[in-house]
Amino acid sequence: MRKRLHISPAVLIAALLASGPASAQAPQAAGGAAKVPTSREMNLLCWQEFSELVPQKIRTVLVPTGSLEPHGVIPNGTDNLAPEAMARDISARVDALIAPTLNYGMTDSMKAFPGAVSISAEAYGMVVDDILRNLAGNGFKNIIVLNGHGGNTAVLNAAATRVANRERVRVLVVNWWTLADDITKSVFKQNGGHAGNNETAYVQAVVPGHVHPERYNADMASPNPPAGAYYAVPVTSTIGLYEKGQGYPTFDPAQAREYFRKVNDRVAELILDTIAKWDRAGIYK
Ligand SMILES: [Zn+2]
Repeated sequence: MRKRLHISPAVLIAALLASGPASAQAPQAAGGAAKVPTSREMNLLCWQEFSELVPQKIRTVLVPTGSLEPHGVIPNGTDNLAPEAMARDISARVDALIAPTLNYGMTDSMKAFPGAVSISAEAYGMVVDDILRNLAGNGFKNIIVLNGHGGNTAVLNAAATRVANRERVRVLVVNWWTLADDITKSVFKQNGGHAGNNETAYVQAVVPGHVHPERYNADMASPNPPAGAYYAVPVTSTIGLYEKGQGYPTFDPAQAREYFRKVNDRVAELILDTIAKWDRAGIYK
């Protein structure tokens, strides 16, 4: 029997708000009142408006980074869709603009799967370095990388270190699924996994129509190897459980909604706290 995914209207509305253009949520103020940006997305701003905003009014930019790789029964672009929706949801709260998403990353161990694209560490490091350096050159003081893919982390951290020291800016790299580890355990009462309960729920809140429980079978999941125990390329399963027996996708719309909100609250809190501490310390003010 084919299982159907039931989505409540509230989840659909939340998803539409999360994935809609930021301009729809930021109407222009009338008369002499302080102007609200016509959009928080750099893709949608003209250069004249950008020059009025940065750095005089806005000093922070969110940079979503991800990958194109298999994810169980959720989209290959999950690692892009998640941080992009996160950026749209929190940008006003942290008073930031949103840079275009870097939709390609390093996924050599999964590139054998249909639709995957992987780029080399060397190329990725150079591209990230250039993007961060250019954002600093445009006047941003706080560059917040919202990373959606664990395979990128080491190269992102290295680029962040180089650019921060060379350009005298502050760079924060956030791996949301690790930051939200305790939220995963409290919402699902279990640990998570790559394309597991946590990532599936998050992306279900963003693009519910592109999650496919009818294609799912628990045999598609494998526990991640204990450190150093073994290594398989290509990976044997695209759902990688952090702990054996835990982290299978639940496809529950209420959990998806709750998880999306709690993860975003946590990421926004981290960003605000980090910037406040940089400010207090007087670093690169
Ligand atoms: Zn992922």
